[in-house]
Amino acid sequence: MPEKKDYYEVLGVAKEANEKEIKTAYRKLAMLHHPDKSDAPEAEEKFKELSEAYAVLSDPDKRQKYDQFGHAGINSQYSQEDLFRGVNFEDLLRGFGGGGGGDSIFDMFFGGGGRRGPARGRDLRYDVNLTLEQAANGLETNIDVPRTESCPNCHGSGAKPGTKPVTCSNCRGSGQVTRAQNTPFGQMVTSTACSKCGGRGQTITSPCGECSGAGRVHKNRKINIKIPPGVEDGQHLKLRGQGDAAGPKGESGDLYVVINIQPHPRFQRMDSDLIMEMPISFTQATLGSDVEVPTLNGRAKIKVPAGTQTGTVFRLRGKGMPRLQGMGAGDLHVKVKIKTPASLTSRQKQLLEDLAIEFGEKKRPQNEKEKSILNKIVDEVKGAVQ
Ligand SMILES: [Zn+2]
Ligand SMILES: [Zn+2]
Repeated sequence: MPEKKDYYEVLGVAKEANEKEIKTAYRKLAMLHHPDKSDAPEAEEKFKELSEAYAVLSDPDKRQKYDQFGHAGINSQYSQEDLFRGVNFEDLLRGFGGGGGGDSIFDMFFGGGGRRGPARGRDLRYDVNLTLEQAANGLETNIDVPRTESCPNCHGSGAKPGTKPVTCSNCRGSGQVTRAQNTPFGQMVTSTACSKCGGRGQTITSPCGECSGAGRVHKNRKINIKIPPGVEDGQHLKLRGQGDAAGPKGESGDLYVVINIQPHPRFQRMDSDLIMEMPISFTQATLGSDVEVPTLNGRAKIKVPAGTQTGTVFRLRGKGMPRLQGMGAGDLHVKVKIKTPASLTSRQKQLLEDLAIEFGEKKRPQNEKEKSILNKIVDEVKGAVQ
């Protein structure tokens, strides 16, 4: 094993580089060396080296240990898996390479015999749409997940029951073929996946009738899921081992159930609080009133005091969304909005006109009788003058 390179050197950043510089450097280099982008034979190794450097330097704890004790500080504390845990490479590398084919970067590093091997089943994603009410109350339901399962007939071996896969004669079961070549620099040994058995190390003489020798079948599997009350939009539940099955030996992938919460016609969510607008009449606002408001699970009352202005917010404690892990619930904020009446009966109109006069906004109009008497007097006066 060659000596391990300095992580800062690997990423080409200074020892005092900040988080952002490290991320930028990693993204730039990862793009160049991503095995899906580069055909260079050492791309995968290089990419792994970059990713490991990033995993350590982007984590304040790990970085501090590395700064203090070097590689020894890291190796003694973390397993390879621990090193990469908590880094969302998919997110970091979104927009180039990867993503397709279900080879997660994690699989690439820990897939056993390299990323081309059938080591681990694919991770699957399943989207669940919830109403806000369902998100508030939690939900236990069955989902129908189309996935690949180990063939029940041959138990994943691919061989007809009663027969057994036989050790591949070409690679003698190793799944790899090595070829030694003499070159001016000495002997070069290259190993490639065995073409006869596809790297599996075994061949099947009489294939299973159920799966035609694949060892795997497609199935819609009903899976029971429990969504906790207070779940947020975009959160996911990880169901370990519920993704696609791998070959007879590999581990199944995981199933990610992604929660999508539909917008609610009345409530807007902000973390565990809910916000709503409540129309009230101007008489309710002026005189004060008890106003009934809808909540997620029923109704509640707010006391609108006399003289309330439009836009005033009333808070109903504990009437918002439940918090995860039973940590109580948020609040419901009710913002009142004063409605202007659009159509009025003649009596309502009269009362409002009187009110306007009372407020001094209007002069009392002369009625018809008063007007005609006045006109008559004016005419008489005019006549007298002439
Ligand atoms: Zn089968
Ligand atoms: Zn073989």
